[in-house]
Amino acid sequence: MQQFHYKALPVDVHFGVSKSSEVKDILIQYGYQKVLVITTSGQEEAGRQLAKELQEICAGVYPHAVMHVPVEVADKAVEFAKDNDIDCCLGLGGGSTIGLAKIIALKTHLPIVAIPTTYAGSEMTPIYGFTENNLKTTGKDNHVLPKVVIYDPNLNLTLPAKISACSGMNAMAHAVEALYAKDKNPIISLMAIESIKALQSSLPVIVGDLTNISARQKASYGAWLAGVCLGSVGMAIHHKICHVLGGTFNLPHAQAHAITLAYSVHYNRHADIEAMDRLAEAFGVSSCEEVGLVIYRLNQSLGIDLALKDIGLPKEGPAEVARIVCDSPYYNPREYNYNELEKLLIKAYLGLPPV
Ligand code: NAD
Repeated sequence: MQQFHYKALPVDVHFGVSKSSEVKDILIQYGYQKVLVITTSGQEEAGRQLAKELQEICAGVYPHAVMHVPVEVADKAVEFAKDNDIDCCLGLGGGSTIGLAKIIALKTHLPIVAIPTTYAGSEMTPIYGFTENNLKTTGKDNHVLPKVVIYDPNLNLTLPAKISACSGMNAMAHAVEALYAKDKNPIISLMAIESIKALQSSLPVIVGDLTNISARQKASYGAWLAGVCLGSVGMAIHHKICHVLGGTFNLPHAQAHAITLAYSVHYNRHADIEAMDRLAEAFGVSSCEEVGLVIYRLNQSLGIDLALKDIGLPKEGPAEVARIVCDSPYYNPREYNYNELEKLLIKAYLGLPPV
């Protein structure tokens, strides 16, 4: 076994069906008494319901989170938090909501309690991001890593089939790239494989029956593990491509991840043989040549849009994305080859299988 460095993330995780009914007790246990509940406008009602349950320890609801944390939204939220004598930010929602809580934490050092309601995984990472003038900036800071995360699969029941599927594949992308990360290690790889298997088996059940609580539980478990992967090791070509698709072309985050994963994996299929063999085994195929195709077929079976053009990528997108990715690459186990990348991105643009 090669040398490695493993650092556990200092996050307390409370996991289980109906766990969210214990939020008040959990917050009091950690000493939080003036809690600001943060949501998107779409989840404001859920936030107000939670605020009622928190009673005297709730300092208010802030329902203004939006995707990719625009800097104007972030600045207003930071001002609001500073003006309202709070001692904890509680993010109830997906990556957008937790993303806004993270910027408040970055600027104020207030602790975050996260109650994720998608499978994006932001709750387990010290990574923050915001957008300014269409440019997305990301960074890492331990102040933005939530102190406490409460997973309650009941809260995912209202997540529509398409968002459930894409968000689940977004989580899977974190686990897949952790297997061939520059700083990969055996513990995170174990979590990655466990995550991939949990998501692969639960997502098809969920899209067939949104209220299947055991599948929801499995997907939350897979998403938690995937979030640990994302927060613990570096990502590679796939996350770089999606960063450009979101940052430069404003494509929806989870959908862009879901569509592109098959092509990123296919691009890397001969690059890290150990990782690819493990992926092939996890997906139940005999060769790394097939892994990209299996992911593509999984997307098909989940009813996910298969073509980047259908979620907003313009015709010149593939060439432009390939150029930006090759000009400012992340680490990847395989060298960046502009022509091949562009060809694969054209396939992704059209929704054709990677092979
Ligand atoms: P999201 O948070 O934008 O949620 C998508 C939509 O679904 C929103 O309208 C939301 O209100 C709604 N929603 C969420 N949960 C719901 C539920 N249970 N029922 C009904 N509706 C629900 O989407 P996301 O994919 O979770 O997050 C995307 C954002 O998170 C991106 O900006 C991305 O960059 C960021 N992100 C950051 C990290 C990180 O580590 N920093 C990791 C993953 C994602």
